[in-house]
Amino acid sequence: MYLMNEIVRDGNKVLRERATKVEFPLSDEVKEVSKNMMEYLVVSQNEEENEKYGLRPGVGLAAPQVGVSQQFASILIPSDDVEELQEKPENDDEYYFKGTIYNPVITRQSVKQGALSMGEGCLSVDDDLPGYVNRAYKITVKFQNEQGEQQELRLSGYPAIVFQHEIDHLHGGLYYDHINKKDPWNQTDNTRYLG
Ligand SMILES: [Zn+2]
Repeated sequence: MYLMNEIVRDGNKVLRERATKVEFPLSDEVKEVSKNMMEYLVVSQNEEENEKYGLRPGVGLAAPQVGVSQQFASILIPSDDVEELQEKPENDDEYYFKGTIYNPVITRQSVKQGALSMGEGCLSVDDDLPGYVNRAYKITVKFQNEQGEQQELRLSGYPAIVFQHEIDHLHGGLYYDHINKKDPWNQTDNTRYLG
């Protein structure tokens, strides 16, 4: 499992690079990184455990955030965080989504925007930068799973925001790139504000 001091922070150029595609079959190194990233997320969401290890809670961690410039990210979204009744991609009561996505591509996105009412945070950004992070409210994402099989998911609301945040990391993006610098809390009619 990774600890906070192994997570790359803003200012390191790996966070601003476009990561390379992951090759299949997965190398042992990529498998190990994926396992450690998911372990971080699981432990970070456990209130007693995260205190013990000093972990900031997270729902996603992308490979560049641990210094690996390849296109994959682990995502762990608790079902409780997903307000709306949505068709779940997996049969898991505790999590709306648990998995590592490889070579993800957003193939469709809605004109309608979504943003978290509290703004976003990132394990690689120590200061919480205020403001709405406008993203597509609905997306279709294609990716490969650990076996290299093509998957497709349609997501909306919170899960769509989490996936977009992580996919940004694979192309050198950080959440605050999307904040309106002049008026960070400016609301628009076309945006749904969540949570
Ligand atoms: Zn992040």
